[in-house]
Amino acid sequence: MQRTFIILKPDCVQRRLMGEVVSRFEAKGLNFVAMKMLRITPELAKQHYAEHVDKGWYPNLEGFITGGPVVAAVLEGLDAILVVREMLGATNGLKAAPGTIRGDFSSSQQMNLVHGSDGPESAAREIALYFNEDELCDFEPTITPWMRAADE
Ligand code: ADP
Ligand code: MG
Repeated sequence: MQRTFIILKPDCVQRRLMGEVVSRFEAKGLNFVAMKMLRITPELAKQHYAEHVDKGWYPNLEGFITGGPVVAAVLEGLDAILVVREMLGATNGLKAAPGTIRGDFSSSQQMNLVHGSDGPESAAREIALYFNEDELCDFEPTITPWMRAADE
């Protein structure tokens, strides 16, 4: 089992695509183990996007990600980090494959609807940045025996 971190970005909330996105992750078989709505501050944005802070386009990204409420969540599943990244598609919505979330709903490099952690270290770092340990709700869905074989 692996955990990953996602953000439904301000464009996802404003465009009322939250349900569509959550529905896709649920249908895939990922467990939501934490979820909350918040407004990202410039300080939090700089921590979250530390690897991009020095880039020329960072001010635009900060304006976008702090420009409206977001929903932060933790998803759990087998290979959850890779599975979520594949479901998101390429960063630029214009290049993302049809069938992916960005490919189906985004026509933008910046407004690409959903963030997903890109590896185990960033997942751990991002989960800790947005959630306290006691906000993570571990549970075993009763449907698991119908989602995959027992030895998977
Ligand atoms: P990803 O979210 O796919 O990991 P990156 O880590 O490259 O993509 O970039 C982080 C986020 O910054 C992107 O999801 C997107 O919202 C935004 N972004 C990426 N490239 C640009 C750009 N050239 N101009 C503006 N915003 C960008
Ligand atoms: Mg990235």
